Amino acid sequence: MRGAYAAARPGRSEARATLMRPIAEKIFFAGEHLAGPLIQTCGGARLSGEAVARQVAAQLAAK
Ligand SMILES: Cc1cc2nc3c(=O)[nH]c(=O)nc-3n(C[C@H](O)[C@H](O)[C@H](O)COP(=O)(O)OP(=O)(O)OC[C@H]3O[C@@H](n4cnc5c(N)ncnc54)[C@H](O)[C@@H]3O)c2cc1C
Repeated sequence: MRGAYAAARPGRSEARATLMRPIAEKIFFAGEHLAGPLIQTCGGARLSGEAVARQVAAQLAAK
């Protein structure tokens, strides 16, 4: 964490759904901007990071 938060341009909030998808199952995104109702908060950033960490761990365990 370093303390910034993002704001989608008007009408462009769907970009968050795009960022939630990993790239080639190798690059994962996490942070306040993907925290659903907790966007723009530290709590949301943490929950997003934990959720993505679980996603990565599950993917590694399946290999
Ligand atoms: C003035 C202000 C007041 C706030 N007050 C509150 C509050 O009272 N309560 C609350 O819950 N939230 C508050 N927030 C919001 C909170 O700070 C953010 O929601 C939270 O820090 C987001 O965490 P993050 O990890 O998603 O992003 P960040 O904390 O922004 O972390 C992103 C990290 O990525 C790094 N980075 C960026 N680009 C690159 C790159 N290309 N390569 C490598 N690293 C990169 C950055 O240096 C940074 O360390 C406030 C924010 C501001 C600006």
